Amino acid sequence: MVRLRVGRFEVYLVEDGRFWLDGGAMFGIVPKAIWSKKSEHDDQNRIPLVIRPMLVRDGDRWVLVETGIDTKPGEKHRKIYRIEEAGRLLDALKALGLGPEDIHLVINTHLHFDHAGLNVVRTDEGLAPLFRRARYLVQRQEFFEATHPHERNRASYLSENVEPVAEAGLFELVEGEAEVLPGLRLVPLPGHTLGQQGVELVSEGERLVYTADLLPTFAHVGLPYVMAYDLYPVTTLATRKRHYPRWAEEGYRVVTPHDPRRPYAWIRRGEGGWEAYT
Ligand SMILES: [Zn+2]
Repeated sequence: MVRLRVGRFEVYLVEDGRFWLDGGAMFGIVPKAIWSKKSEHDDQNRIPLVIRPMLVRDGDRWVLVETGIDTKPGEKHRKIYRIEEAGRLLDALKALGLGPEDIHLVINTHLHFDHAGLNVVRTDEGLAPLFRRARYLVQRQEFFEATHPHERNRASYLSENVEPVAEAGLFELVEGEAEVLPGLRLVPLPGHTLGQQGVELVSEGERLVYTADLLPTFAHVGLPYVMAYDLYPVTTLATRKRHYPRWAEEGYRVVTPHDPRRPYAWIRRGEGGWEAYT
């Protein structure tokens, strides 16, 4: 767990677990001859990724950005995605002396299974929201997509991570930008899904952005490095062009959800295009 300070915010970057996804799907139009120099891969052509939720403390309030991955879907699902060590988020909470009931706000950047897995847990009474005392913030558009899946995104949305939260009335649907706490803003980052959002923290001159899958790892920082998983790749490109210059110029610390090596970095325009540096 990496601990950072962003002005008055205390930030914890948590490794919830690891999983592996097809390298071709992760790098879109970039040929293997190129992406294989940036990432290792296994004998099934899958590349290693971490699951990195972010905990933010603001005084006595705790905000959880993303809820990691879970083992609810079972053994076949675990094998396909080579999911390793799911659910370590709970250990991280415990290490901080926290339980799920101490989380005041959950921010779902989007509702894919590797970002919203612990929204819901299996209990003796059936499926139930894990963070019972929290509001779950998600863009209205994302909630619509997750509850109206089609053939192209159905494998990513598992209703078991969404419906119990909706039935308990814990979702708060957000439209566009929103300042949730002073200095903590939700920012729409469409492309991967239309309703994806990121989180920006600004306090006492310090800045951090959680990119969600707009930038899944720092190997993707180059503009054409867009995942084949993205439903709207050209929108991803436009969203990057809109936000990268500001994040670079204003010195945002950048946190990605899946980079296996660097929990955070900064970005800048280099001679060969956008690059990450630490
Ligand atoms: Zn995703």
